[in-house]
Amino acid sequence: MWNWDQGRLDYFQFDNLKKIARFALTNDLRLTDRETLVTATGLPFLPDSDRYPPWRNYSRVFGLSLICAKHGIGSRPTKVAQALAADGATTTDEYFHFLCEASTDPSPVLKGWDRTAQRRYPLLFSLKFLLARSALGFDTTSISEIVASYGVSNFIGDEDQASFVTLVRKGHDIDNIDRQAAESIQVIAQISYLSLDRRNVTVSLSSDDARNIFQQLAPITGDPKEDGADEIFRITELFEAAVNELELDYASTAVSDVEEAGFSATTTFAEGAKTRKTHLVIERNGKIRDEFFKTNPTTVCDFCHQDTSQSYPWTPRILDVHHLLPLCSGARTSKTGTMLDDLVAVCPTCHRGVHRYYDKWLKSADQKDFLDAEQAKMVYDKAKNEYRTGL
Ligand SMILES: [Zn+2]
Ligand SMILES: [Zn+2]
Repeated sequence: MWNWDQGRLDYFQFDNLKKIARFALTNDLRLTDRETLVTATGLPFLPDSDRYPPWRNYSRVFGLSLICAKHGIGSRPTKVAQALAADGATTTDEYFHFLCEASTDPSPVLKGWDRTAQRRYPLLFSLKFLLARSALGFDTTSISEIVASYGVSNFIGDEDQASFVTLVRKGHDIDNIDRQAAESIQVIAQISYLSLDRRNVTVSLSSDDARNIFQQLAPITGDPKEDGADEIFRITELFEAAVNELELDYASTAVSDVEEAGFSATTTFAEGAKTRKTHLVIERNGKIRDEFFKTNPTTVCDFCHQDTSQSYPWTPRILDVHHLLPLCSGARTSKTGTMLDDLVAVCPTCHRGVHRYYDKWLKSADQKDFLDAEQAKMVYDKAKNEYRTGL
């Protein structure tokens, strides 16, 4: 099975990767001491011991996320790190689609890298497997089925839709999932149209969009380098070109209504519009929405405190879910699945109001996106404080 890093899901969370990338631009991740890194990022990087500089335990996170690689006695940030560090320069969807296209088995980050070996793309395989199933009408897929199908198929990841359909129809499965493989799939489940529920991944896309995205995915190829670090730099140099080829429009997946409602005022920043689209897809993701209301069966708007079951007694649920992380953040992952703490239930009118407030705030701050979760939450609370009920 393919290798990844184990027990590091929180570090692979998009917001946290951005923090690590920002640090990597001004510090050397290989030479840094733990305290400096912890202070700058707010992440624990355990264990707390002088004998364990962060590189010793976390170099695989830094490498697998394509943030940096060894350079001389230290390390150097990649083009991907530069994009992650700059606000609004890339989105969760762009980054995780690229990660799928660029991650190989064997991996230049891990032991056993061999430039002459046949390269397979396990994450690209996983995403294409999910999309192929979704296009056939199977929106939920178990992680074990993905891993089993990768094992028996010998697919590389560049196979076409017809081949994947044949494989999907065979329906392979296993009982014991390799934990590293499973965790890597949990990482890519941060893509806005994916959601995670224990051992299953659900795709929330129309069949047309699923087919369309499948068509756009292709492995990052070229002549691999002998040295693993050189190979990481070679691949990451291709980030911008690969991302420019992706058109993540989700044209026939219902986002346009919300977009017209709350986002029309801000089409000045093309990149800003892109980050908002990711945010909207997460908020419209049917699976995330269902999971949220299953755990929080509220009918009260978090913003105006209106109880919608009183005002609209004929409909069981009129509330939207609003995502409190920065606009380009993915749905958070953890060992247990999608974390629902970053969502609140708001009525459709307040939801528009919140996004208009975001637009206004970002414009006046001259930012394309919030710097981090804290800032995004602060602005939400600010909007809430300024809210006045009509008289
Ligand atoms: Zn409301
Ligand atoms: Zn929202």
